Amino acid sequence: MSVKAYGAYTCDNPLEPIAIRRRQPGASDVQIEIAYCGVCHSDLHTVRSEWQGTVFPCVPGHEIVGRVSAVGGSVSRFKTGDIVGVGCMVDSCQNCASCAEGLEQYCENGFTGTYNAPTADEPGHTMGGYSERIVVDEKFVLKITHPEEQLAAVAPLLCAGITTYSPLRHWRVGPGMKVGVVGIGGLGHMGIKLAHAMGAEVVAFTTSDSKREAALALGASQVVVSKNKDEMKAHSGTFDFILNTVAASHDLDAFTALLKRDGTLTLVGVPEHAHPSPNVASLIFRRRAIAGSLIGGIAETQEMLDFCAEKGIVSDIEMINIREIDTAYDRMQKGDVKYRFVIDNTSLAA
Ligand code: NAP
Ligand code: ZN
Repeated sequence: MSVKAYGAYTCDNPLEPIAIRRRQPGASDVQIEIAYCGVCHSDLHTVRSEWQGTVFPCVPGHEIVGRVSAVGGSVSRFKTGDIVGVGCMVDSCQNCASCAEGLEQYCENGFTGTYNAPTADEPGHTMGGYSERIVVDEKFVLKITHPEEQLAAVAPLLCAGITTYSPLRHWRVGPGMKVGVVGIGGLGHMGIKLAHAMGAEVVAFTTSDSKREAALALGASQVVVSKNKDEMKAHSGTFDFILNTVAASHDLDAFTALLKRDGTLTLVGVPEHAHPSPNVASLIFRRRAIAGSLIGGIAETQEMLDFCAEKGIVSDIEMINIREIDTAYDRMQKGDVKYRFVIDNTSLAA
């Protein structure tokens, strides 16, 4: 079936309306009418070919929420009318050790991304949530229990939420820990909310003076403007854990220096250009670590959604019409969004 979408035919043209094909739901498929889709910096990196390997036409979007409009014969967990979500993955091998542990994001045969990944469907690569409808195997569909009026603000949890929740859990963030979150964008603002809800003391690091006050409202007890060396120095050697969400190449030493002995700086940002090589002495003399983390598995994504519903956590969003997407990208590039753009997918119909 043909579905209205928005995408790009090349990396240097604006996004434009595009008709895409969705498969008829198979036995284990759930068909979803997309209500809202969050705008992740990964969408921008991909559509503008900053990461190499983008296949065109490219329809981004992996922070998807909507309503089930049909289910296949063997689907047991969902029915027509349910409110559901889809994040960054729509499939994985289901056979490897990582899939067996529910860590589909580390699938040893490569998970299938919600966009830009090989698929049997036309045109041979997946197309994401900047579209009216999507068809996904029920294993990769999430239940949403937040009140329906919060649905637009739930969308960013499907990537920004899980990408920050998973490392916070993995490194056992909780009461008594001092945690830093670097870069207060879509991911970072969720990192602050989640680390605060887990009971940690949270310090936010930003390059934007304009976010100094706003970040306190997210749950940070202090905000540091990272360009200010004296402000940074005041926190030397005091952090148990720092989550770095910055989408651009920068000096990591400024942050490893803030870790205690045995502290970890975990990177989730995937910049177009490499970071300068870190100072190894700073790591060695305090047994500090630099680590990375990728989104989260399906079970953990459901756990995060349930945790957020219970604690009343959603994303702070600015809603846009699909026709504003290029302006939104330009503003996101400048760090000018508090804190996530979300597309109203009904604007695709116009
Ligand atoms: P975003 O909303 O653009 O936020 C990134 C923030 O980084 C900006 O708001 C800004 O915060 C800061 N920043 C940007 N440019 C900077 C620079 N040159 N120097 C220092 N700080 C800078 O992006 P996002 O959607 O949160 O995504 C962040 C990164 O994570 C992207 O690279 C994205 O592709 C990646 N990502 C990774 C995963 C994963 O699984 N690991 C999942 C999703 C996204 P301030 O204004 O506060 O400085
Ligand atoms: Zn994302």
